[in-house]
Amino acid sequence: MSADPHQHTFAGNRLDRAGDRRDDPRWLAAQLADPRAVSIALWNGQPLLQEGEDGQLRAARLDGGMARELAAGAETLLFLGLSDEGPVLAIDLDGVADPAEGTLQGLGRFTDLRAALPALDGGDANMIGAARSLFEWRRKHRFCSVCGHPSHTAEGGWRRVCPSCGAQHFPRVDPCVIMLPVRGERCLLGRQAAWAPGRFSALAGFVEPGESVEEACAREVREEAALTVSAVRYHSSQPWPFPSNLMIGLIAEVEDGEARPDLTELEAVRWLTRSQARDLAEGKLEGALAPTRTAIAYHLIRDWAFGGDGV
Ligand SMILES: [Zn+2]
Repeated sequence: MSADPHQHTFAGNRLDRAGDRRDDPRWLAAQLADPRAVSIALWNGQPLLQEGEDGQLRAARLDGGMARELAAGAETLLFLGLSDEGPVLAIDLDGVADPAEGTLQGLGRFTDLRAALPALDGGDANMIGAARSLFEWRRKHRFCSVCGHPSHTAEGGWRRVCPSCGAQHFPRVDPCVIMLPVRGERCLLGRQAAWAPGRFSALAGFVEPGESVEEACAREVREEAALTVSAVRYHSSQPWPFPSNLMIGLIAEVEDGEARPDLTELEAVRWLTRSQARDLAEGKLEGALAPTRTAIAYHLIRDWAFGGDGV
C-alpha cells in the first residue's frame, strides 16, 4: 500500500532499489549477471514500449544477457532495482538509427514519453522516469566537475567517481515549487504563451539556493502574479523526469490584491471561482483547458475545487 494518498504519474516505485547494497561491486556484478535479470530500454530518452490487447502501454523487457551485450560495458547499463522476479536493469541507447528497426526488431516501438503517458502502466512510468533522469544526468556529467578528468559510473549508475581526484558525483534532482494561489472561494491560474490555446495551469518555479519551499513559493507568486502569499500548505509531490525535477505541490493563500501577469513567464492570469475550477477540471469550462491529468497541477486544481479549504 502506498504511503502517499496522492500518488502521481512517475511516482509509485515498485522496486527495491537496494541502495544499501548496490555500492558493493561483487553484489552488483551478481545482479547484472543474474539469469532472471530483465532490462527496459531507452533510445535518446524514448522508452521501448509494447501495447497490450487492452491498449495499455508497458515497457518492453529485454533479456538481461541481451542488454549486457548491447551495453558493451557498465556505462550505459543502469541497475534500477529488484522486483519479486529478479533484477531490473535499464539500457541507454543513442545514435541516429532506430534500434527497433534493427537489433530490437519485433520487441516494441520507441515512443515519446509524454505522448505515451496517458496509456502507460504506472509502475513502468516510474521506472522509465527514473532511468530517463539518470541517463540524462550521465550524458551531461561524463567529466569530473572538479578536475575535468573523465569520470566513471559506480553503484550501477547511481553515482560517478573521478579516478583522478577521487571526487564523487551524485545525480541531481532540481526542486520546483508548483502552487495554486487561493483567496476565499477563488483560485488563480496562469498561462504561458507557448501553451495550447485556452490552457491554464498552476504557477511554478525553481527553488533557489538559500530558499525554503515556502519562500520560493512566495517569491514566485509575487514575481509572476504580483500577489502576496500569507500562508502555504503542502499538498503532494511528483518526480518529473524532464529532465530531473521534483515538483512540490502547494496551496498558497494570498492576500487581497490585483493579480498581474509578469508578461515574461506568464502572458495572462485568471481568477476562477470554485465552481469554475470544478468545471475546468471536468473539461466543461468553455474556452479553457485544464492541465493534463498526468501533471500534479491538475490534481492541485481538482482537489482544491472539490475538496474545500482542507486541501
Ligand atoms: Zn576529478
